[in-house]
Amino acid sequence: MNIRRLSLNIATLISSLLLVSSFVGCTKSAVKTDSDKLKVTVSINPLKEFAEAIGKDKIDVNVMVPEGMEPHDFEPKSKDLVELNKSSIFVYNGFGMEEWLDKVEDTIEDKNKIQLIDSSKGIEQIKTDGKVDPHIWLSLKNAEIQSLNIKEALVKADSKNKDFYEKNYKEFTDKLEKLYQDNKTKFSELKTKDFVTGHEAFGYLCRDFGLKQMSVEDVFAEGEITPQKLKDLVDFCRANNIKTIFSEQLASPKVSQTLANEVGAKIQTIYTIESKEDNKDYYESMKDNLDKIYNSLK
Ligand SMILES: [Zn+2]
Repeated sequence: MNIRRLSLNIATLISSLLLVSSFVGCTKSAVKTDSDKLKVTVSINPLKEFAEAIGKDKIDVNVMVPEGMEPHDFEPKSKDLVELNKSSIFVYNGFGMEEWLDKVEDTIEDKNKIQLIDSSKGIEQIKTDGKVDPHIWLSLKNAEIQSLNIKEALVKADSKNKDFYEKNYKEFTDKLEKLYQDNKTKFSELKTKDFVTGHEAFGYLCRDFGLKQMSVEDVFAEGEITPQKLKDLVDFCRANNIKTIFSEQLASPKVSQTLANEVGAKIQTIYTIESKEDNKDYYESMKDNLDKIYNSLK
């Protein structure tokens, strides 16, 4: 077959694919416009999980940071701002997770129409190296507070479904509280309290259970690891007999692997829930994290 004809065929194929995908796109957005669901925009995945646990089929949640993206690197695009302006509620994490928040707030056309909800309201902050740690959702106790803030916003925006939201909120937070209490007992009986992670995201989880994290990357998943830092980590692992190194999909798994090889530890996945992973919901991811940390320490 000559090259010219081949490229022509490819061009035809591509344009027919484009046609199909734009057709699918239209159908989808038409369905959305017809819906009378409360439209909620959230910045990051854990807030989507909390909102959906409470709002279920009465709300339509749009997440700004796309799945699989490291949220510390995110910058909103104009399409995100268009979506946001169609929403009744915008929930952000707070504590500096959204470095772009001020810029986005400035683009809100009707500030009376959109409730801006700071999910961190009422949470006691942790500072690491002078910076506020934004990973509040990795604490079950904080997740309960964030859920409360979201529930109140839903009730305010859609009071006719108040009982529905209250009931779902209670069910969800009862489940989180039970997981918290079960683990509180388990962890209090452990002698070893230190574990090693890839990205320093677990400060609030540590606070819940009296644990301590050491990590390869800092709170904002930034900074190349220096030979000195790697040496410190190796020394720490040896001194504390660390047998498991936790690694996150979006942080630096290579360095974690190097560290694990160096000290003869195994690598295990831990979820920051910054993005949805392994198709697990918030509760399942947290349960998995806590089980793995517990098993590595006992
Ligand atoms: Zn993070």
